[in-house]
Amino acid sequence: MPATKHALSRSAPDVRAVVAARRAGLVDLRRGFHMRPELSLEEHETAAAIAKHLRGIGLEVREGVGGMGVVGLLRGARPGRTLMIRADIDALPVHELNAVDYASRAPGKMHACGHDGHMAIALTVAEILADWRDRLAGNVKFVFQPAEERACGAEPMVAAGALRDPDVDAAIGLHLWSPLHVGEVAAQPGPFWASADMFTLRVRGKGGHGAMPQTTVDPILAAAQIVVAAQTLVSRETSPFDPAVVTFGAIHGGTASNVVADEVELRGTLRAFTPAVRDRLVRRLGELANGVAGALRAEAELTRGEGCIACVNDVAITELVLRAATATVGKDHISQGDTRLSASDDMAVFLQAVPGCYFLVGAGNPERGIDAPHHNARFDIAEDALPIGVEIMTRAALEYLGR
Ligand SMILES: [Zn+2]
Ligand SMILES: [Zn+2]
Repeated sequence: MPATKHALSRSAPDVRAVVAARRAGLVDLRRGFHMRPELSLEEHETAAAIAKHLRGIGLEVREGVGGMGVVGLLRGARPGRTLMIRADIDALPVHELNAVDYASRAPGKMHACGHDGHMAIALTVAEILADWRDRLAGNVKFVFQPAEERACGAEPMVAAGALRDPDVDAAIGLHLWSPLHVGEVAAQPGPFWASADMFTLRVRGKGGHGAMPQTTVDPILAAAQIVVAAQTLVSRETSPFDPAVVTFGAIHGGTASNVVADEVELRGTLRAFTPAVRDRLVRRLGELANGVAGALRAEAELTRGEGCIACVNDVAITELVLRAATATVGKDHISQGDTRLSASDDMAVFLQAVPGCYFLVGAGNPERGIDAPHHNARFDIAEDALPIGVEIMTRAALEYLGR
């Protein structure tokens, strides 16, 4: 389902031609980043490469914005609004298993989420729009955000003034998405990506001899009951029309088969689409764990870890993105129905501050074996997705900033 099938749509056919002319450079950029992945909060070389590239095409560049963040400002020929284009830049602690010549050169680190493609797309949009300054009434602010995978990169950038001087009026960003076929695009207004909250539950009992349980308080039994009881937070306490997730991802406790443990540690994550559901899940998990543990003479203590609000798309900016996407891939390739994701992304922090749209660009191609899930050691993207992303963002910017 390549976009080229819909080539030369009525509006601005030159956009596609210009994107096509830059395809080789776009792929090179992506592969260059792919070979040199850096983990969250360690993106020194990545940030430096981005800043160098932006300076090379004549943008005003700020480095070290809220840590490893980079902001490139493109001023249009005439004054006007400011559109922000966001790309995340970090990789994951995954050891790549793909046998490709652009595979990661850093053992144990990999761009296994597609952020290498996001950077390449944003830089290529910057190149194109820098050439088309005359067409722009207003500014485009390119925001390269570190530490998305730990959901702690956007907030420091906002605090450091990434959205000011000039003030950002709207923000767009994309995520390459392998579950979606290349050539498909998805976006919808309202909550689009879920909030996420990591938690740790410590269940304390009283250790002792496994043959004499009456002298102990068994935290493993209490932890097991808590895991089961926590399933009612969604099934019995949350409206069927409010999606939510409670997942326990780790459970650790005990040392031997004949010893009752002193303590069990549970770790997990909560997902929701509204602040009300999110806050209630966190509060009720703590209450429920305390109640269940207490009934079994144990104690439970909930510690809230890293968290991220839900990504909420603005109606008007989502319509703008969907018009650009329709011009790029055709109406039949815009995903219909409910396309929300229970994953989360701290693009949400920018979208809380300014109206915007975070959208998905299909990057999977099962026929060519490109269908590994995100964060998998065999993850890859269909590179045909790259020019699609560039074209959509370029069209959206041209429309938002007039011609
Ligand atoms: Zn990811
Ligand atoms: Zn990602």
